[in-house]
Amino acid sequence: MKDKRIHPLAVPFLALALAVSVQPASAQLTSNPDPSKPSFSEVKYVAGGEILLRLNVPTNNNSRLEVSTDLVTWTPLYTFPATPTAQSYTDSTAPFLPVRYYRAVQLAAPSPVTGDHLVTADGDVVVYPINHATFAANWKDKIIYFDPVGGATRFRTLPRPNIVFITDIHGDHLEASTLSAIDAKNADIVAPQAVYQQLASDLKAKTKVMANGDKAEIQGIAVEAIPMYNITAGRTGHTKGRGNGYVLTIGGKRFYIAGDTEDIPEMRALKDIDMAFVCMNLPFTMDINQAASAVREFRPKVVYPYHYSSSDVNRFKQLVGKDVGVEVRLRKWY
Ligand code: ZN
Repeated sequence: MKDKRIHPLAVPFLALALAVSVQPASAQLTSNPDPSKPSFSEVKYVAGGEILLRLNVPTNNNSRLEVSTDLVTWTPLYTFPATPTAQSYTDSTAPFLPVRYYRAVQLAAPSPVTGDHLVTADGDVVVYPINHATFAANWKDKIIYFDPVGGATRFRTLPRPNIVFITDIHGDHLEASTLSAIDAKNADIVAPQAVYQQLASDLKAKTKVMANGDKAEIQGIAVEAIPMYNITAGRTGHTKGRGNGYVLTIGGKRFYIAGDTEDIPEMRALKDIDMAFVCMNLPFTMDINQAASAVREFRPKVVYPYHYSSSDVNRFKQLVGKDVGVEVRLRKWY
């Protein structure tokens, strides 16, 4: 196991091996779990062939759920916080694979960010939804914030950011008091010109201004600014050219953060996106039908509905369907 965060004495804890083609047997679960190690308390199929896993995790360090299709190669799926609260994870990749095995391991050192993993050729990216359009990611020693708003307490468990991406000028994306509270002055900030104009001078000095279509490299991450705008008559909040979506390439994997947009041609034309964050809320961005239609066209491997307010994301997931191979990942954003 090349990841040094796994303690060598914490022998990978194969609590359950589960082939998707058979019903999981509760008898395979550990009956008297050792509280110093993560353990599964329930595994079951839920709607659409997804698999719900419930775990008890140790309180002295983070635990990580890993997955395999062959019991040889294990891929990190999710890092859990160290908490006395039982944890659950819904594996929405499972329906796309014939076989799925799980194990949970305890990490030897605290993980700065918990959440879903995306394995890249140069380390994992861990994604941590916070609220609405706001989220964080961890890649190697870097902490990345996206549209940090909402005040310091939202970020109290997270390290300070090394990079901050801002998409637009509205209050759910740009908030001076939060940028101050998280010490954004010590980070590299990426923003469009309209955001730059509103920043304090100490933040301006740290900001890379990008216009739609611009490309840059920020701390080893290739960044492309993608248009984001309204196209439906009467929806006028986002004019073309003001805000930026972003495509980030990290370790060969491509992340798309849509910002506030509708199903614009530039979104539909995206290629080879591994992980997408797509907005849907009226009257500001688009409805779930537009979002699902666009996602079915540009076919990211994984899509997170975000910035969705009261939109029916379960219905969005149905509309995307499974036939084009896009995994819709529903997480707690509110
Ligand atoms: Zn917004």
